[in-house]
Amino acid sequence: MAYTQFIDGALTTGSAKESWVNYNPANNNVLGEVCQATEEEIDAAICSAEKAFRVWKNKTGAERGRVLLKTAEILRLRLEKIASLETQDVGKPISESLAVDVSSAADALEYFGGIAATIHGDFFDLKNAFGYTRPEPLGICAGIGAWNYPIQIAAWKAAPALACGNSMIFKPSEFTPATALELAKAFIEAGAPAGLFNVVQGDGRVGAMLTNHPQIAKVSLTGSVSTGKKIFAGAANQLKKVTLELGGKSPLIIFEDADIHNAVSAAMLANFYTQGEVCSNGTRVFVQRKIFDSFLKQLKERTEKIRLGDPTDPDTQMGAVISKAHLEKVIRFIDSGKSAGATLLTGGFRPEKDFKGRDITAGNFLTPAIFTDCEDSMEICKEEIFGPVLSILTFDTEEEVIERANNTDYGLAAGVFTNDIKRGHRVIHELQAGTCWINNYNITPVELPFGGYKQSGLGRENSFAAIQHYTQLKSVYVELGNVESPY
Ligand code: NAD
Repeated sequence: MAYTQFIDGALTTGSAKESWVNYNPANNNVLGEVCQATEEEIDAAICSAEKAFRVWKNKTGAERGRVLLKTAEILRLRLEKIASLETQDVGKPISESLAVDVSSAADALEYFGGIAATIHGDFFDLKNAFGYTRPEPLGICAGIGAWNYPIQIAAWKAAPALACGNSMIFKPSEFTPATALELAKAFIEAGAPAGLFNVVQGDGRVGAMLTNHPQIAKVSLTGSVSTGKKIFAGAANQLKKVTLELGGKSPLIIFEDADIHNAVSAAMLANFYTQGEVCSNGTRVFVQRKIFDSFLKQLKERTEKIRLGDPTDPDTQMGAVISKAHLEKVIRFIDSGKSAGATLLTGGFRPEKDFKGRDITAGNFLTPAIFTDCEDSMEICKEEIFGPVLSILTFDTEEEVIERANNTDYGLAAGVFTNDIKRGHRVIHELQAGTCWINNYNITPVELPFGGYKQSGLGRENSFAAIQHYTQLKSVYVELGNVESPY
């Protein structure tokens, strides 16, 4: 199969000058050939997105909302097909793609479809005059995605962009070309004009072409900090708007009064869901010294029971990491932790059999790893690993843990576990992170803004806050009297 571009309402026929093979992370079988978009294809996508924008910006919010809601309905009807494509492409368990990925994409379309008709400006009474504001669309927006949540990322960007009256050209990660195409098809079936949501395939070069294109008004990236900096610099040349959803090394702080079972559940979710390939993961788990032993005992026991293996098996709880190269990178981090003096308590090796005894040596599998005896200065506690590696750090006091938790250039997320309601809020208010949880972790309802502080990003996705990132405000002054003039 060939993964081609989706431009002006249809798939292109794959006459790519350059292409590469897309592999299934669970067995490294070939899934198909991805066709890198050419400059001519980018121009065609821009031309069609411009045409669609002219039609779409003149629709009412209610009309736009209806298309988004219908698209969500189509995604939900195709849940099993899209979830299965996602599992093949990403290597994540089918139980996750069925429960989270597709429905989170549909949630965003429903939320922004629902509020499209409520996007409004303000009115200002100015005595013999009045003023009003109009939140107007930006034009053609580019969306650039990471590989860990492909359909979710595409929908989190497209839904607010389209609700505000923009069109979008989306570039999925070169590792996960499949499901953005399903979203593009669903938009057309739901009645969107051709070109409203185009998909172009390709690596960073295609992303850079979009960023630098003079007709692109805004770029929204989900990716690493280093890519975010490149895009920000490229966009600065033309003073384009950006939303940057980047990486993190987030703290999860567990106080001695916390419910240990819940805290262990959260620490596992914060490190092993989607094989640990989640931007907001709480990879620095700070545990108050008094509960260290009991926390660790339970964490180890439950982690060793995680059912790792064939992602298509509904009983599987952990799949394969995205690529051989990424697997090697995660293993290098594990080696670095060991040589720095941390203790690898469990996991961190490539298993031969899965939980049902099937041979999984061909896939990119890694058992979930827990490090103890960690220090803040170790590479494993400072760098984003983006794999199933959890580092435990102990602490004594609230003041100490706040300072250590904030001692990072990242600021995407943070979590606190405590049964002291005052302490929970007090500590969260001191943490330098954009997305925080008290007594849970990695829950991202569409109603709440999502995004980072410091080098973890700019702007917010989800919630009403996303609207301001996809509109520009026009002020209009209307005179009701005569023009007062000294001339
Ligand atoms: P990446 O930065 O390598 O790539 C992300 C996207 O940017 C890809 O589509 C890639 O082709 C494109 N790209 C690369 N170079 C580019 C350039 N110069 N110009 C324009 N586009 C370019 O990231 P990845 O490996 O795909 O994903 C993992 C990273 O994404 C992690 O750091 C993770 O934390 C982050 N992430 C963040 C969030 C969030 O919401 N904050 C969510 C998921 C993943």
